[in-house]
Amino acid sequence: MTTSRAETLSGRAVADGVAERLKARVAELPYVPRLVFVRVGEDPASVFYVRSKQRFAKRIGVDAETLVLPDDVDQAELMATIAALNADPDTDAVLVQLPLPGHLDSAPVLEAIDPAKDVDGFHPLNVGRLWSGGAALAPCTPVGLLAILDHHGLEVHGRHVVIVGRSHMVGKPAAALFLARHATVTLAHSRTRDLAGVVRTGDIVVAAVGRAGLITADMVKPGAVVLDVGMTRVGDRIVGDVAEDVWDVAGHMTPMPGGTGLVTVAMVLQNTLTAAERRRG
Ligand code: NAP
Repeated sequence: MTTSRAETLSGRAVADGVAERLKARVAELPYVPRLVFVRVGEDPASVFYVRSKQRFAKRIGVDAETLVLPDDVDQAELMATIAALNADPDTDAVLVQLPLPGHLDSAPVLEAIDPAKDVDGFHPLNVGRLWSGGAALAPCTPVGLLAILDHHGLEVHGRHVVIVGRSHMVGKPAAALFLARHATVTLAHSRTRDLAGVVRTGDIVVAAVGRAGLITADMVKPGAVVLDVGMTRVGDRIVGDVAEDVWDVAGHMTPMPGGTGLVTVAMVLQNTLTAAERRRG
């Protein structure tokens, strides 16, 4: 039997296109948009992610600063930092890098961020707006999934999207965004019976679990579009949720690395510009 490899949905190509568009938008503004990251401690993954976002900000002309708080900062001090950023008229966007150290409660922190500056889209007001069709700042990874599909001219309308993973950060907001684009959506999770059978019904499959190689070739409908979100460190490599053999079955697929992660970063800056333009008129 001959097999053909899926077409690569390059995240780099999408991110580069977004960078060009955002750079032009920034150049038109009479002010420099400002994004502030709050990072607690020195978790290597958090350091890496914040640096990537900061580099992208620099590339498009956005002023980005990182406030680093010590590992043992208490909840009150973190909340006071957020309050100060909310009150600062020059700050358009605030992003608290997750996860926070175990002694801190992230829910009140995320709820404390001014929804107008909430570029991660995790504030309950933005979550509500997302589901009710309002003008939300929507979570960056799910927004990026649609940007990838749009960039490559892949249709969403009327297609069946199976999302594996139902987190507040990826799976659920992805479901809302795909529904808003008239897809039929199934959300699968750790208690889903016959995961393979469910995934096989997807024209588009989103894997957002964090288990290396969970989605295998026998679970994927031939020709399906497969978007790999999961990231697991295996030795010195980052591995996705989608097994290597899926390249022989899918029609289109994101690589890992080089796929959804790069676009997530671009969407943080897209949200930053949207927040700045809405706030400053
Ligand atoms: P999370 O909060 O841990 O959620 C994982 C989800 O996967 C849960 O809904 C869980 O189900 C489900 N799950 C766990 N085991 C499963 C199994 N065997 N079969 C089916 N579903 C299963 O994680 P997250 O924050 O959404 O992140 C998911 C992955 O994406 C992680 O690897 C993370 O590093 C990565 N990520 C990547 C990007 C990017 O830009 N590419 C951005 C954010 C996150 P239950 O709800 O039933 O527990």
